[in-house]
Amino acid sequence: MAKYSVECPACNKSYTVQLYGPGRDREYKLNNWDWTCDACREKQRQEENAKAAAENAAAGLPALTGTEKQIAWAETLRVERLGVIRKALAGEYDYSYMSAFWGNSIGYTDEKCLQPEDPRTAHAIEVLRRQASARWWIDQRETKVGIVLTALFASHPPVKEDPPEIREAKEEVLAEATVRPEQPKTETVAEIRVGEKSVEVSFPEKREDFWQIIKKGLGYTWSGSSWKRSLGVTHGTPADRAAEAGNKLLAAGFIIRILDPAIRQAAIDATFEPEHTRWISKIIAGEYPGWFSITWKEDSRSLYDAARKLKRSKYSKPAVVVPAEQFEAVLDFAGMYGFRLSPGAQALVDMARTAKESALVAAPVPAKKEALPEPGSKPACLNVPENVEVDDEFKD
Ligand SMILES: [Zn+2]
Repeated sequence: MAKYSVECPACNKSYTVQLYGPGRDREYKLNNWDWTCDACREKQRQEENAKAAAENAAAGLPALTGTEKQIAWAETLRVERLGVIRKALAGEYDYSYMSAFWGNSIGYTDEKCLQPEDPRTAHAIEVLRRQASARWWIDQRETKVGIVLTALFASHPPVKEDPPEIREAKEEVLAEATVRPEQPKTETVAEIRVGEKSVEVSFPEKREDFWQIIKKGLGYTWSGSSWKRSLGVTHGTPADRAAEAGNKLLAAGFIIRILDPAIRQAAIDATFEPEHTRWISKIIAGEYPGWFSITWKEDSRSLYDAARKLKRSKYSKPAVVVPAEQFEAVLDFAGMYGFRLSPGAQALVDMARTAKESALVAAPVPAKKEALPEPGSKPACLNVPENVEVDDEFKD
């Protein structure tokens, strides 16, 4: 046993500790242990609790009830657990999530993931959010989030059953709208819905091959309950994009469901207008407002090289940008490589063209040179008036 002086890394105060064991071990502890002093530790813990309380209040959660110490502890438990649920709803199922959600004893399977479309899930989460007893959170601290939620399912009022004729009609409508590939990869159905300016795909199963098509390939993002893509002027019609998504999924072996018969047929026959991916648009903000932006989807070095040959072009991720005055070269480029102009880019062309045409055209007359004497030539005579009278004010 020996006494050592150590320094707290937070407040730099030195204090004395007693260490036991062989000298080697003591040396190791001195160098590697966290020597934060008790006062600083308590301060850090309080800061974490206060931060958790602020986060919970910001998330609209009720204030906890209990003793001061219970509340402080329960706040951090609540932040951590609701954080796990948020991750689950966002579809981020990684190992740390799975283990926080279910523990290590339960396998990593899709059925174990949170099903956001199950009404009991929303109900269980709401019950959890309303739970204001600090003691309850502390009592539940060893129980994994998934188990807590599943237990809360039982408190959901029974889902009201439809009368048989409605149930039959529902089944018939859904069956009619469903298209199966010859050999489906899974029985989970991808339901595709068309909005006014968006397309949505529901697919309550986590699969890498589905992600590859919908997220990586078609640019859909997770909205919290389904995969969604908002469509702008350069993306084509929602009906075309829905049929395209259906076609790609069907071809990859997924069962699809589309209620609109025309869109469904277009997905099967591939008669939709494919998405045009080469675009020239107008930049409205950022470093190059009022410039053309040239974008394309395929990974093409030669397109990049061709675009960068345009005078004054620059690369501004993810586009090649060109100033408006180069509109003629940009139009040539568009014609040559099948780029389309967005309405904004078309307006930019018109504006640049008008500016060019209204500029004054003139053949400038060569400017006269000032005639100055060369050394050796005879200097020009100065005309000195015969009577020089100097004004009073210029007199010295
Ligand atoms: Zn300290």
